[in-house]
Amino acid sequence: MTETKPKASGGDKKAASGKKKGKLASSVYTISGEKITRKNRSCPKCGPSIFMGVHANRVMCGKCRYVEFIKK
Ligand SMILES: [Zn+2]
Repeated sequence: MTETKPKASGGDKKAASGKKKGKLASSVYTISGEKITRKNRSCPKCGPSIFMGVHANRVMCGKCRYVEFIKK
């Protein structure tokens, strides 16, 4: 097993991923721009980090266009 692991020679932080400062996702409401995503609904295709836009009766992923209808 020969694994070349480059030693970190500098201040390159990868852990920080453009998170906005403020409250954590403690509430079930996520406001991103002009859209409000409820219940942290994320795209089942893109992964939990991709949230879906809430429309009148459906939610849609802005990345892969996956649509899920909301039943009432
Ligand atoms: Zn998606």
